[in-house]
Amino acid sequence: MALLIDIRDPDWMSEEALRDILVPLLPGVTIHCSIGKETLPDVKVLAAVKLYPGVAGKLPNLQLVQKLGAGVETMVGDPDLPQGVRVTRLKPNSAAQEIAEYCLAYVLRDQRNLLSHATDAARQTWNPVPPRKNSETTVGVLGLGHIGGRTARIFAGLDFRVLGWSRSLKSIDGVDCRCGEDTLPELLSQCDYVASILPSTPQTRNLFDASLISKLKPGAVLINAGRGDLIVDDDLIHTLKSGHLGGAVLDVFREEPLPRDHPFWFCENLTITPHVSGWHIDGGLDDVAANYLRLSQGQPLLHEVDRQAGY
Ligand code: NDP
Repeated sequence: MALLIDIRDPDWMSEEALRDILVPLLPGVTIHCSIGKETLPDVKVLAAVKLYPGVAGKLPNLQLVQKLGAGVETMVGDPDLPQGVRVTRLKPNSAAQEIAEYCLAYVLRDQRNLLSHATDAARQTWNPVPPRKNSETTVGVLGLGHIGGRTARIFAGLDFRVLGWSRSLKSIDGVDCRCGEDTLPELLSQCDYVASILPSTPQTRNLFDASLISKLKPGAVLINAGRGDLIVDDDLIHTLKSGHLGGAVLDVFREEPLPRDHPFWFCENLTITPHVSGWHIDGGLDDVAANYLRLSQGQPLLHEVDRQAGY
């Protein structure tokens, strides 16, 4: 039984750097760091950021794909990946906290008028615009899992009115939780800010089309830190241009890097960040080794994905 590391994204981490982390955690285990033309029949676990074409076919005894990240949309539906192969993901607390703070940062930017104060200061203008009270502000958090649950709690702890939405009903102190597609339009109509931290699945892709975006409260701000393909780009641009929304803050996009000529770059009231809201995976890589050992011992895996549900 062996592990194959397949990372081809230089921005992330090298295969060798990950191997150096895993070697002391998996003494005696064969760790391959690249795959060529040959098949690797000893590999039962693949640790990868992405499932590259042709790789699964060279691993005839593959049992587990360990995603080196959180979003598994490209892996779960990949026709090259035999149905019996299990998929696990990382769930680092550090990145979840960072994403919650990212959403909070942009909400507070607007609550405290930070942009207009900066503009005023640059013009030597004293303009005391009152901040908005958290208790009079409603934040909707879509997705109440590892990241969204933490985000909702943080907003609730700061006295915001928080509405939460997920597939199954949750119970979170200080959060008014809802579930199911039919409850979403009404929820959106109440929110001053909506933070989407949903995975990309067949049910959530293109969720924010013109029809749903029109249900957002006039002046609301939409924050998307989940996945880019939840938003129909043209429909969001159209709504931003119409003045219906107060703005949007996007960290994730259908195509990344966002092409230089994409209309988002030229859209007023739209803040773009380059997929940086959740960055650090402190300690999360220990779970790669843990899952290798758990698989070999027939124990339950950490953070296993439901391939049917898609997340
Ligand atoms: P989880 O699996 O822990 O949570 C997902 C949440 O989404 C759950 O509450 C789930 O509901 C809900 N959900 C899924 N499908 C639906 C649906 N059809 N309708 C309503 N709710 C739904 O994932 P995480 O919180 O860890 O991560 C969420 C996503 O964030 C990841 O899939 C990834 O795409 C993205 N992400 C982005 C990062 C970035 O840097 N921008 C970094 C890390 C992750 P239920 O609880 O009922 O299952």
